Amino acid sequence: MRVVSGIQPTGKPHLGNYLGAIVNYVKLQDEAHAQGGQCFIFLADLHAISMPHSPAELTKNTREMVATLVACGVDPAKTVLFNQAQVPAHAELQWLLSGTARMGWLNRMTQWKDKAGKNREGQSIALFTYPVLQAADVLLYQATHVPVGEDQKQHLELARDIAQKFNNDFCDEDAPLFTLPDPYIPPAAARIMSLRDGSSKMSKSDPSEMSRISLTDDADTIMKKIKKAKTDSEPLPSEAKELDERAEAKNLVGIYAALVGKSVDDVLADHGGQGFGAFKPALGEVLIETLAPINARFAELKDDQEALDAILARGAARAREIALPTLDATYKALGLVRG
Ligand code: ATP
Ligand code: MG
Repeated sequence: MRVVSGIQPTGKPHLGNYLGAIVNYVKLQDEAHAQGGQCFIFLADLHAISMPHSPAELTKNTREMVATLVACGVDPAKTVLFNQAQVPAHAELQWLLSGTARMGWLNRMTQWKDKAGKNREGQSIALFTYPVLQAADVLLYQATHVPVGEDQKQHLELARDIAQKFNNDFCDEDAPLFTLPDPYIPPAAARIMSLRDGSSKMSKSDPSEMSRISLTDDADTIMKKIKKAKTDSEPLPSEAKELDERAEAKNLVGIYAALVGKSVDDVLADHGGQGFGAFKPALGEVLIETLAPINARFAELKDDQEALDAILARGAARAREIALPTLDATYKALGLVRG
């Protein structure tokens, strides 16, 4: 079992990152550890330069992201926790796979379409090709399980396509180089939506702070954001299917269900008939309770720059070592001569 996943240090991690991905980092880290497998969690700092960014912010966010992940339960003693910039094999493998990835495949990526919007010509080429870097990120470690939110499903399918084509084109049939990775997507909470707009996902890069709950928000901020979250004026229904046309209400009930570990129907059995005046404070309380221990741990860790850098340096050394055989084999398969 090889677990591999990444998160961009593009801002403060939010509830969508937590329920969609980080909770599963911790779950799979423990499963892998118990069965003698390996878990790699990396900060996708090389991905973060695909959009306009401030270098000073990127450095600060990288350290904060390490502190947040550890506060959420990612354990550097069980998981190889590192940032891509310290493991050049990621960028190298991306280039080696760029001969295999097809323009048409990348053109179909919905994240590219969403993030580029109408101004495709003005985007960085990194924004277009970063799914190939993502493929390199997981293929480098022969990942079997990749815990991600639903928005990354398509990129993982691309990674499988690239791996398959490379294996077909450059390897013997009985000795494929790359393992085909499987996404590990939570059945509930796979896509947490913005608190301001039920049709777009909660994102670090959304300009509005009010659109997301950051994992480091204090109790007052959490309650304020939940109370201001966009909703309709109807009371909650008693069955999940009646939420289908009510994106904002569906999102809030889904968040509540994921936090308390119940189905949406069970939550509605308890809260059906309630208006948002009653439901929002109940949701706020559950959120505050869930995030309080993460917040406390983050506060202890966040200012110890030396300790955070040491975690990354240790993880990167280990990652470089484990990545090497696959990287070497890729150069060799392509017929590239190296010393
Ligand atoms: P950015 O806006 O900079 O792309 P992001 O919020 O999308 O940031 P990423 O770092 O791109 O966060 O993604 C980290 C992980 O969190 C990925 O596995 C992604 O699928 C998951 N994720 C991101 N947003 C959500 C969401 N709203 N609901 C569930 N999972 C999410
Ligand atoms: Mg994203």
